[in-house]
Amino acid sequence: MRQSGPWEKPARGILLAVIVLATSCLVRNANGNIGNIEGIDGNAAHATLEELSGERYAGRITGSAGNALARGYLYARLEQAGFAVSTIEFSDRVALNDGSAVLEISTSGSAGSVTACAYRVDFREVPRGAYDGGRADGPAFVLPARDAEFPRGSVLVVAAALYRQEAVDGWAAAGAAGLLVELSEGDTSQRPLWAGQPPGTLAVVRHGMPVLALSREAYARIAAAVSAGPVTVRMASPLRFTDVTGTNLLAAWNGDGGAFTPRLVVMAHYDHVGTDPDGSRFPGALDNASGVGLALSLAEAFARDRVRADVAVLFTDSEESGLAGSHAFAAAPPFPLTGISVVNIDMVGSRADTTYSVYSSGGQASVLLGLDVEKALRAAGIKVKSEYPVPSLDHDPLARAGAAAVSVCEYDTTRYHRKTDTAGFIDPAELDAVGDALYSFMRAHLGF
Ligand SMILES: [Zn+2]
Repeated sequence: MRQSGPWEKPARGILLAVIVLATSCLVRNANGNIGNIEGIDGNAAHATLEELSGERYAGRITGSAGNALARGYLYARLEQAGFAVSTIEFSDRVALNDGSAVLEISTSGSAGSVTACAYRVDFREVPRGAYDGGRADGPAFVLPARDAEFPRGSVLVVAAALYRQEAVDGWAAAGAAGLLVELSEGDTSQRPLWAGQPPGTLAVVRHGMPVLALSREAYARIAAAVSAGPVTVRMASPLRFTDVTGTNLLAAWNGDGGAFTPRLVVMAHYDHVGTDPDGSRFPGALDNASGVGLALSLAEAFARDRVRADVAVLFTDSEESGLAGSHAFAAAPPFPLTGISVVNIDMVGSRADTTYSVYSSGGQASVLLGLDVEKALRAAGIKVKSEYPVPSLDHDPLARAGAAAVSVCEYDTTRYHRKTDTAGFIDPAELDAVGDALYSFMRAHLGF
């Protein structure tokens, strides 16, 4: 199904007319130079995201071959555009999905049966709490209260209302063989990556008790079976935590010819959540090949127009595992972050009619930057609102390090972290409109 946005046909005609007018006349910029203001080509941005969400990039999870291929592709494109490109490495620990995913429920007695549950339909992996994968067999025990006692060796079946991440270690210590948790939010078709570790730290991996999440229906089925008689669970989690090297890509446009002292950073994360045990990928077209595609088009426009200001383009890695790339960058920035502006782009151009958000962490400079970006997007006919404090995107570590930092995000969750997040659900015309608005805003912000 396709929904249309406000920038579709009629508004789009007006927008094109404006671009044609703008490109047909020479504009005198603040520096007194003659410049020819062109916009962003939404089709080009879309071609980039289509490339990065393709088969060979295999979901771009940090540390993988697909992630390195994506980085190589972006490195070459930026260099070709005339940027000086460098890489910044850091340590990360990511949750791979390369073991068995098994959940079998056996009932005994005369009507005894074995039911195999379906991965990504009835259950999924759980990175929260960093419990490494593995197998468990044991009698199912439906926990009646968070601190209830249970026989050692049980596979605990826990309702969403009783689950707390902090309670899990206690259940493991009390001898649970495995844990089946009803999902309170999200969906079994999704693939999360964050293990819940504090920002800028590595997840502390726990062994010995596999954890799986259940759909509401699967939880109800298993709980009902347990109340009817003894149930045995055989389970395996595919999760394996592994230490990897994350790599940010930093590209410098030295537009003023002097020392590289950017006042603007255009940012987007290029990593995504990888693959399933069967090798099928999470394409991550909206999240966040779209932001990377648009940021690359913006970078190419700065170079095309030989904008006489320093601009940094930062493609971060490891956003999906806890903003690790952004944290690493902010911890050792190659130029001062105080007083500079950061526009992070994360999920743009969905065909869904979702209102755009301009997120910030809430500091005055970031909120003011956010209001300016919101105004620029609204003037281009895009439905948008400012929201703060929202610290869960890559702008946050840079804001904490002194920058005015915002994220532009169309938070459409219909395909969020699902295998259906493909390029076909992203609208080139919308990318064009958002790109034009951001490019004009950024040039005005820099005084060019
Ligand atoms: Zn994501």
